[in-house]
Amino acid sequence: MANVNHQQIKKKIEELRNTINKHNYSYYVLDNPTITDQEYDLLIRELMKLEEEYPSYITPDSPTQKVGDKPLSHFEKVEHNIPLLSLGNAFNEQDLLEFDRRVRQAAEGEEVQYMVELKIDGLAVSLIYENGVFNRGATRGDGTIGEDVTQNIKTIRSLPLHLTLPITLEVRGEVFLPKKEFERINKAREKNDDPLFANPRNVAAGSIRQLDPKVAAERALDIFLYGIGTIEGITVHAHSEGLEALDRLGLKVNKERRLFKSMEEVVTFVQEWTGKRPALPYEIDGMVIKVDSYKLQEKLGFTAKSPRWAIAYKFPAEEAVSVLEKIEVNVGRTGVITPTAVLQPVVLAGTTVKRASLHNEDMIREKGIMLGDHVIVKKAGDIIPEIVAVLPERRTGEEQPYVMPSNCPVCGSQLVRLEEEVALRCINPTCSAQIVEGIIHFVSRDAMNIDGLGEKVVKQLFEHKLIHSVADLYSIEVESLLSLERMGEKSVQNLLEAIEKSKENSLEKLIFGLGIRLVGAKAAKVLAQRYMTIDHLSAASKEEIIAIDEIGPKMADSIITFFAKDEVKDTIQRLKDLGVNMTYKGSLPAASVDTDSQFYGKTIVLTGTLHQISRKEAATKLEELGAKVTNSVTKNTDMVIAGEKAGSKLTKAQALGIAILNEKEFLKELENK
Ligand code: NAD
Repeated sequence: MANVNHQQIKKKIEELRNTINKHNYSYYVLDNPTITDQEYDLLIRELMKLEEEYPSYITPDSPTQKVGDKPLSHFEKVEHNIPLLSLGNAFNEQDLLEFDRRVRQAAEGEEVQYMVELKIDGLAVSLIYENGVFNRGATRGDGTIGEDVTQNIKTIRSLPLHLTLPITLEVRGEVFLPKKEFERINKAREKNDDPLFANPRNVAAGSIRQLDPKVAAERALDIFLYGIGTIEGITVHAHSEGLEALDRLGLKVNKERRLFKSMEEVVTFVQEWTGKRPALPYEIDGMVIKVDSYKLQEKLGFTAKSPRWAIAYKFPAEEAVSVLEKIEVNVGRTGVITPTAVLQPVVLAGTTVKRASLHNEDMIREKGIMLGDHVIVKKAGDIIPEIVAVLPERRTGEEQPYVMPSNCPVCGSQLVRLEEEVALRCINPTCSAQIVEGIIHFVSRDAMNIDGLGEKVVKQLFEHKLIHSVADLYSIEVESLLSLERMGEKSVQNLLEAIEKSKENSLEKLIFGLGIRLVGAKAAKVLAQRYMTIDHLSAASKEEIIAIDEIGPKMADSIITFFAKDEVKDTIQRLKDLGVNMTYKGSLPAASVDTDSQFYGKTIVLTGTLHQISRKEAATKLEELGAKVTNSVTKNTDMVIAGEKAGSKLTKAQALGIAILNEKEFLKELENK
């Protein structure tokens, strides 16, 4: 019996090795993985567990003992003096505490310090400088033998060809592609009908391993240096000192690094970064924790594959593979039909995901999505999950093409595609889905802000025929509300108070709430400030509206068409009769403010974190002083207000010579205005 089991285990180990080797080849040699990193990590973990239990089956060529894969033959080969290794993985707090325990055992009571760095998701390279001059760049390859990619490395603009000192150095780092650059490249490929790249890492790896350096030069690759192989002329005793030395030599070292004395602090820090990660301009797939002292590093040593003095903490999966079970379509407030993917439930970034946005019909076609397909689903930060790619190699032949419906799934009327639009629309104004969505929008926070009137309650009220339009909300009876599910006397009373209170809102909230196509909260405020009452606004001519700076011809057309409708006129009259305020109550528009303010008439960009004031408040204050607040820095920007950790916008402003105020200076100016 025992024998049979051993046979089975050996077979299982071999199968796992074959599968992993196949994926290693796709990932390291072809730069084209066909499973997600998390799925790959699970396979490796499974193999490691079996090999730990049955060590007699470990062979030197097992993927658990090897780094990367063989280099591509068409490059010159390079032998690394000191191997470039991989890193052990930690997936949770326990793994980190276990690592800490092993380190402290080796430290024998001496103080331990950990350097924690971002784990940049790119491609590892080794660079040699001789007497301060860049001499050779190589990929990691299988750890011992890499590929000579000097010409491609030279195209990285942030990498100096000369150091600030004439020393000889072998330094390691990660070449990566910033997210913005990835989007730019994919947009261009989309235009040319070229297949899209799956992620920035593959593009970075593919570009560095191109035979033609022109290709690499066209893609704005970047690099962070994070480790020293050998160094002559400078003595360093700890990793943190080494990084400072690299910085002084003019090499780009990531600033988001911190030293800690306890693993508990490290755990808090990596957890913080799990949330902050989507805001970075480049991708990271975890954090690297390294023992700082070189002496202790030496004592801990290496396994065949990775140093014992460092570990990579991998973030929870943001990508996973699922199966597309069906596609549902929803009708939005303006009649737009949006397809939504219904997926086999899958855990992503700690939550179970069952649905993903598909945006529109074009996206389904472009990505070649079929019903029953295996798809890669991504969820980053607060973003709604999205299908990023299909895995055609997992098709069984059972998959079916998807055809969008030609009729509205709610009211049955024929759908149309308006000129210049990708979306299909239901244009029946009495379509109940649109009415309900319109009411949900009317009560939402930026509109009339009626607390306690969520989507569910609105839907119930509509289904029970207790409301038919937004005006009905203001004549609703206590009994009607009490008849709804889960509505006690207290919540009914609160809700009625919230409805009553909303009657006092300033005009811009009503304009936004009415849901005029293309008119967002910002435009609603501009219109309210300009016209002061709804009667003035609804009587305005197109020429007059276009004359307002922030409003273009399309929005003006939409406003005119909206107020010309009989049902809109009726609704406004009813709202008026029911006591809803129709005038602007906010601060006066720019024209009547102090034109001496240094912000008056200026185009200003806010960036980075402000501490004393929120970005939204700062923008409102600036607008009240007659400034125009915009999102991106261009040559038309007059001033940039830069809070803490301001990134690319600040750099661009500096490059363009635009005036920059920090938070303190800004607040002082506000006081003086
Ligand atoms: P790794 O990526 O887990 O860790 C080592 C690498 O981290 C280093 O070589 C270096 O390139 C990088 N790194 C980034 N920032 C660093 C920093 N600050 N300090 C030190 N190193 C830093 O190990 P690996 O061996 O390169 O790759 C294994 C991983 O690659 C797997 O865990 C998996 O996620 C992925 N992979 C995926 C597939 C697939 O088919 N999807 C196949 C093979 C490997």
